[in-house]
Amino acid sequence: MFTTDKTYTPEKTQMSISSDMSICQSDYPIDWYQEAFIPYAEAYAALPDRKLTTILNWMKPYMEKAINHFGPNLLLLSHYYMGGEIVKLIEQFGGQIGDSYQLALMAAKHPEKSVIVESAVHFMAESISMLADKSQTVYITNPKSGCTMEMFAKDFMVEPAFMDLNERYGSENILPICYMNTSGRVKAMTGAQGGAVCTSSNVQKIVRWARQQKKKILFIPDRHMGENIAYWLGIDNLAYWPGGSEGAKYSLFNQDDKTLKQFDDAEMVLFSSECTVHTVYKASMCDYWKTQNFATVVHPECPNEVIKASDAQGSTAYIWDYVMHDKAHTQRYAIGTEHHMVLNLKEQAKQKGIEVVNLAEAKINQDKPALGCGCATMSRNDPPHLVGLLDSLRLGKNMDYNEVKAGDVVNEFSGMRQRLSKKDQQWIVTHAKLALERMIDITESK
Ligand code: SF4
Repeated sequence: MFTTDKTYTPEKTQMSISSDMSICQSDYPIDWYQEAFIPYAEAYAALPDRKLTTILNWMKPYMEKAINHFGPNLLLLSHYYMGGEIVKLIEQFGGQIGDSYQLALMAAKHPEKSVIVESAVHFMAESISMLADKSQTVYITNPKSGCTMEMFAKDFMVEPAFMDLNERYGSENILPICYMNTSGRVKAMTGAQGGAVCTSSNVQKIVRWARQQKKKILFIPDRHMGENIAYWLGIDNLAYWPGGSEGAKYSLFNQDDKTLKQFDDAEMVLFSSECTVHTVYKASMCDYWKTQNFATVVHPECPNEVIKASDAQGSTAYIWDYVMHDKAHTQRYAIGTEHHMVLNLKEQAKQKGIEVVNLAEAKINQDKPALGCGCATMSRNDPPHLVGLLDSLRLGKNMDYNEVKAGDVVNEFSGMRQRLSKKDQQWIVTHAKLALERMIDITESK
């Protein structure tokens, strides 16, 4: 089994663009754009086709003006899960692609970059912002891009778990570990209680560290990743705190004796949110692809039955690296992760003679062929959003709507954000940083 305890820092993907490649993203209605971006959205809508070269030629004048204006101060970032066009285009303009761990470190690793523009989901931009220096400003191209796993683990949903577990067992006996896919508020609650952040690339290392503290671990927010880490590390006793609004209402003190005993015996309490993109996969899909001589590689947000049935498991960067370097020597891979990432990987691996399919395309039920699922919210960042934001910043416009600060709570329908006072923002930064820096120290240690 291939484990996830290394942090992979693959070289730049160097995604190449050819004139026959098209984008894999539908256009959004014009009224979905913030007012300032409507002229850009209209110009984009009027393009004759959706070939990458057409889009690139449209973007070029805007991008070059912004790049010349900001010079070396500008940093463009995107995540592997973004719809194909942005991840391919962003590298053409000197930007960088990473998984959530790699993105979080970008501001801190590049102190010279004062304007950071991220095309991914909000919690990723917030993590970059929390590790940024005061001289650096972080923007998200579309604030409506939230992560559904994070949305079902908001601070007010998670808080009762902290309160009740602390009350029953003593706060000195509860160690929270939160996945990168959480808000700054949840990261700060974790940091304030001595806990650490983890990512899919370092989760084994972080939970091993947590177990050495001999405390009950509160793992937030992904139930499946929690079950997978328990499986990898041999943790038998688990208890479950419901996710979403159920989590906000749940109380340990209303539970029957049997449930309370489960909590008393549990080495790890799992907060039960999940990613709908990764829960479409089934063990039978791995079994099918093995009969076709494909190696199966899946992300740790998949259900445990899929992890057990697959050949390799790891973070997004790990999967990319694994396939592009044909680590299984099969030249054929069935991938269980976000569909845009699979499409991008498929296109790039093809140029090396490597075949890639989505694990979900297994021919198990001929009547109803399954399809992989894209992260619809992340893909709300598209070329008009990127162009519109960069052009507006170049023109010196106030882009408050897109600026990301610690503790912001964004309404994913309107994109409007509730912002904390400067003092409260500072509390979030201080304590979330503790959790993030603990993660970095543990990850980078031997
Ligand atoms: S793929 Fe799932 S976990 Fe990742 S950002 Fe999208 S909704 Fe969140």
